[in-house]
Amino acid sequence: MNLLVLGPQGAGKGTQAARISEEYGIPHIATGDMFRAAIANGTELGQKVKPILDSGELVPDEITVAMIQERLSEPDGEGGSVLDGFPRNLAQAEALDTMLGSIGRSLDAILFFDVPDSVGLERALKRAEIEGRADDTPEVIARRLAIYHEETEPIVEHYRATGKLVPLHGERSVDEVWAEIVAALEQLP
Ligand code: AMP
Repeated sequence: MNLLVLGPQGAGKGTQAARISEEYGIPHIATGDMFRAAIANGTELGQKVKPILDSGELVPDEITVAMIQERLSEPDGEGGSVLDGFPRNLAQAEALDTMLGSIGRSLDAILFFDVPDSVGLERALKRAEIEGRADDTPEVIARRLAIYHEETEPIVEHYRATGKLVPLHGERSVDEVWAEIVAALEQLP
């Protein structure tokens, strides 16, 4: 099963993607987590992307696409995966279509977490307090939301056109959204 979770920060994507990964036995591939791990490990990639994550801007497509391409070729993803945080713009969405196509796959469903900005912002600020992530200052959170609207939201229409977009009520509770996801996944061919 090849899945994608799509939506703004604070929409609950990461929480639900982790649960999908556990229940369906497919890896949770989160580009933000991969970049933060590279930074924590002090790798060359980490050093290059740290200032970008600290500002809330997007890492250049060639770096992100290459990282995902390598990750998708690892054996644990042969039965599919749940992508989180990628793609974030149309160029990345097209690169993903090409990448999956070249290995004879396509996305089975795009889970779209629709939440009002006010809800996403409030949750993101709360997470910032709890997790203390370095890229979670109020300014960076606001910048990421602006970039979401400018760059990422257009890909919703790209995926709606495939007929595989599954809109979820992201503002509902974790268990309610999970029930919506399970119902949608059970209907997949
Ligand atoms: P996230 O944890 O998904 O909020 O991502 C944290 C940060 O990692 C973002 O603000 C970007 O700087 C970077 N990032 C994550 N995924 C991508 C992507 N697909 N394209 C470009 N930058 C990304």
